[in-house]
Amino acid sequence: MSWHMPILVMKFGGTSVATLDRIARASKRVAREVANGYDVIVIVSAMAGKTNELVGWVEETSPMYDAREYDAVVSSGENVTAGLMALRLQEMDIPARSWQGWQVPLMTTGVHSAARIVDIPPAKILAKFAEGMRVAVVAGFQGISPDGRITTLGRGGSDTTAVAFAAAFEAERCDIYTDVDGVYTTDPRIEDKARKLDKIAFEEMLELASLGAKVLQTRSVELAMRYKVKLRVLSSFEEYDPEAGTLVCDEEEIVESKAVSGVAYSRDEAKMTLISVADRPGIAAAIFGPLSEAGVNVDMIVQNISEEGRTDMTFSCPVGQVARAEKAMQKAKESGAINYHDLVADTDVAKVSIVGIGMRSQTGIAAKMFDVLAREGINIKVITTSEIKISVLIDRKYMELAVQSLHDAFELEKAG
Ligand code: ASP
Ligand code: MG
Repeated sequence: MSWHMPILVMKFGGTSVATLDRIARASKRVAREVANGYDVIVIVSAMAGKTNELVGWVEETSPMYDAREYDAVVSSGENVTAGLMALRLQEMDIPARSWQGWQVPLMTTGVHSAARIVDIPPAKILAKFAEGMRVAVVAGFQGISPDGRITTLGRGGSDTTAVAFAAAFEAERCDIYTDVDGVYTTDPRIEDKARKLDKIAFEEMLELASLGAKVLQTRSVELAMRYKVKLRVLSSFEEYDPEAGTLVCDEEEIVESKAVSGVAYSRDEAKMTLISVADRPGIAAAIFGPLSEAGVNVDMIVQNISEEGRTDMTFSCPVGQVARAEKAMQKAKESGAINYHDLVADTDVAKVSIVGIGMRSQTGIAAKMFDVLAREGINIKVITTSEIKISVLIDRKYMELAVQSLHDAFELEKAG
């Protein structure tokens, strides 16, 4: 067994490595942690905007592109930043080298452009740490498939790379440096009283991440929860402060929690209703099977009470997928798999949700939410709940108002 210092994983997002100056700045943060006694694994994103540019080049060259070549091209932005940061650290006399995914190797499934991490054998990097290397700068977002091709992990995948490394190397913590200084009770652009949270539970973060608080890739939070990786989200633009940011952690570490921790929203939703569907066993499968095959991300589902063997089925999906959903339903109708009278799409809706682990032990939260919306004259079109979340679909024009009044009513501007 090779000896090494405690390990810290530091991930820098695209805006934190957008220019050579910013790479230098990020490198100083890394140097500080090296001085603090850590061996550091740095995970880098591509420079801001680079991945979009690369995706554009691929699409322009080949509209029906080969996903393996897409990954070969799109993964390259991270190679540049990894090499540049290693060079910058070397300039600071810190023993560092870059690693591309395949060199580690970060092994993934063969699902190109959306690969999942299968294994990260730590031996090679640990051996280098034992030889005196202090920083491994790893290109995020990329890996190698079972048949030796380069893969990528889906947009935002560097977060997942970072958490997976932290788990594989049993790192003390995984610091995610980004352009916001933490996770907020809601979007500060909508509610100026939004407050930065010191701590948030994995489960809450998962709800917020999948609800569109685009701070962390959802998959990275799932991984962190599974392996209990302590995650910290913080800004690379602020002065160094060991207490900075938001800690995403196990529920047990949060001593006291309010019923509601945050208000999330998703602006571009659509509500689709299949009117008068024959109600029989297997009908839901006959509807949602084809929708899922067509790549429609169905979120909320409501089946109405049926009358004389017929019912209405309502579901929500991203507004950009309405045409796809309509086509899939039309096809299913023509094939005789389902039978409905009409399909009505309401494309002017948004989803607003309140999230909090405290909901498990406190009652009356849903009633309070509905009351707040009622007082603002906001009509609720669909409601869904989970143990720690209540979501409503409302007219899009009321979205900001709903977020603000819920933030107010649950006093989220106040700590603890
Ligand atoms: N550069 C990749 C992207 O923009 C991966 C990442 O930054 O997380 O999706
Ligand atoms: Mg990101």
